[in-house]
Amino acid sequence: MKTIELIQGDITQLNVDAIVNAANTSLLGGGGVDGAIHRAAGRELLDECKQLNGCRTGEAKITKGYSLPARYVIHTVGPAWHGGNNNEEMLLEGCYKNSLLLASKHQLKTIAFPNISTGVYRFPKEKAAAIAIATVKSFLLDHPEIEQVVFVTFDQENFDLYQALL
Ligand code: ADP
Repeated sequence: MKTIELIQGDITQLNVDAIVNAANTSLLGGGGVDGAIHRAAGRELLDECKQLNGCRTGEAKITKGYSLPARYVIHTVGPAWHGGNNNEEMLLEGCYKNSLLLASKHQLKTIAFPNISTGVYRFPKEKAAAIAIATVKSFLLDHPEIEQVVFVTFDQENFDLYQALL
């Protein structure tokens, strides 16, 4: 059965086929969830990321999960918020869609997302949550091969927003 789940906590602890990383275009690590994923996965993750030649905003690339409970990491680059007239909404939608497409292509069935772009990149949280949920719901309608999508919130504000919208 296809399900969408909401949990609050640390995405690096999840035992799913893939966790999604809110990375930057270098794919060489950063702060926030990116830093947490690299710390938990270990040095080999950085070594694999170095082979990928970065990633464009809105797109996604996949690596193994190494020391994480998750088998894979899907690295996507969210847009930084610059007021809303720089294609931010379409780019954020692309992050969710392209991550799910990659999961599907690799026969992965369970995938967990952080709240992409809502940290350092300052995308308005309510808008970001609405885009995340609408994009995932619409993807699942056409892709029954994906069995479970988990939204992982870290802060209380995002948790409350997702709970209300779901
Ligand atoms: P971005 O640059 O895309 O904004 P951030 O890592 O700064 O990326 O923030 C994205 C979201 O990830 C924020 O909502 C932040 O609270 C959340 N976050 C930070 N650490 C973790 C973690 N260990 N697990 C899940 N979410 C996290």
